[in-house]
Amino acid sequence: MTDHKFTMTINGKAIAGTETFGVENPATGQVFAQAPDCSKAELDAAVAAARAALPAWKATPIEKRRELLNAMAGVIMQNIPELSRLLTREQGKPHPDAEGDVGGGAFWLMESSKHEIPEHVSEDSAERHAITRYGPIGVVAAIVPWNFPIILAAFKLGPALLAGNTVVLKPAPTTPLTTLRLGELLRGVLPDGVLNVISGSDRLGPWLTAHKGVDKVSFTGSTQTGRKVMESAAGSLKRVTLELGGNDPAIVMPDVDVTKVAEDLFWAAFRNTGQICIATKRMYIHKDVYEPLKTAIVEYAKTVKIGDGAEQGTQIGPIQNSAQYKRVLELIQDAKDNGYKFLIGGEASSVPGYFVPITILDNPPENARIVQEEQFGPVLPLLKFDNLDEVIGRANDSEYGLGASIWTTDLDRAQQIAEQLQAGTIWINESQHLSPHAAFGGFKQSGIGVEGGPDGVLEFCQAKTVFTRKAAVTA
Ligand code: NAD
Repeated sequence: MTDHKFTMTINGKAIAGTETFGVENPATGQVFAQAPDCSKAELDAAVAAARAALPAWKATPIEKRRELLNAMAGVIMQNIPELSRLLTREQGKPHPDAEGDVGGGAFWLMESSKHEIPEHVSEDSAERHAITRYGPIGVVAAIVPWNFPIILAAFKLGPALLAGNTVVLKPAPTTPLTTLRLGELLRGVLPDGVLNVISGSDRLGPWLTAHKGVDKVSFTGSTQTGRKVMESAAGSLKRVTLELGGNDPAIVMPDVDVTKVAEDLFWAAFRNTGQICIATKRMYIHKDVYEPLKTAIVEYAKTVKIGDGAEQGTQIGPIQNSAQYKRVLELIQDAKDNGYKFLIGGEASSVPGYFVPITILDNPPENARIVQEEQFGPVLPLLKFDNLDEVIGRANDSEYGLGASIWTTDLDRAQQIAEQLQAGTIWINESQHLSPHAAFGGFKQSGIGVEGGPDGVLEFCQAKTVFTRKAAVTA
């Protein structure tokens, strides 16, 4: 157990919570810390604090808000060693990846501080002046999943705070600690109440999205939960941004250099133990390169070290939590029951913790659960194709439309394929690259709205247009 007593941050103060819940290390399955289980009264206090802080924060000059976002980033940077160690312990990811999540959060805050809040003059005639300005929406509930607790929080905090909103931030119940610690470290950086950090068990999310004092819900998580969030937000017509699940296809064309792409393709699917919304979850490989590429990916997979993320040299950690672990095992069992061919993996791990070996399937049918569903774990189906139109059809035949990647040396053809794919982000010869300056969002049931770029900032703003009839004054 850790000695640190993690506290929520409500109105700039430490709140230990009247109840707590245990947080496990997924590499051992053992509880190592307690987190506050926010009560309804504590949630009310957090929302009230955000509401009370709103007028002054909204009136704070944007240059000052930019400065404070950078100050937040500075605090994160100074504490990367502590925060990333804690993140590995609760999330399971290898330590260098945890440093990437925490450092990436700081980077996102710094870059978000550079966005402009636009204004738009649509008429300036002798008769009339018309201007549209963008102001904050109000109190934002920021709800984050367990795969990238810090960077995904920063996706929301940067633009929301820049635009003059105040925030109640809620991490996932299985990864609350690094976010709580961040809230503790940031006390005093922002005015009290501007950023409140709360943690809780499964009851807290629905309370937060239904709360009458919340004006906007910025949610990242599964499509299933996204539907519930939208339903609950409908009660008071809260604005919502939903960043949801994905089943990203990769399309590998016959002109690739197999030895060059195998490693990149492996990590497109397996980084963060496959627990990335934009991980490659279906890999379509042209029949001309299917056999050599399959062999190269499997050979590379054999060299990758799985283990406790806290151990030096670990490249892939455990699955983050027991529910997800059971789900991934269920999908593997389904593949076994149906007699699909495994190239590697598939066997249960005998060590404690939520470890699943790297598992790669050889051309299962298109209607297999492992092809149709979001696995969110270290299991990848390789799928053979021989016709471009056919594979584009298969790639698009999904309720999801988050990301997709194309691997080829013919960049013109890649652009044409990109044009036809139904996904919010397309990568050509890379995967998972995101930028604070580019819109990121899902087609279809992968989400509503975007994060990142100027469009992402506007998701935290409401437009107000002022028409001035000049003639009335000058007549
Ligand atoms: P999840 O939907 O179970 O939980 C996400 C968050 O929502 C957690 O904080 C959880 O406590 C909260 N929550 C749960 N039920 C709620 C409810 N009824 N009302 C309000 N909040 C509720 O998702 P997860 O399992 O933590 O994360 C994995 C999923 O997230 C995957 O589907 C993945 O693709 C998706 N994801 C999407 C993106 C993206 O940007 N599109 C990024 C990362 C992860």
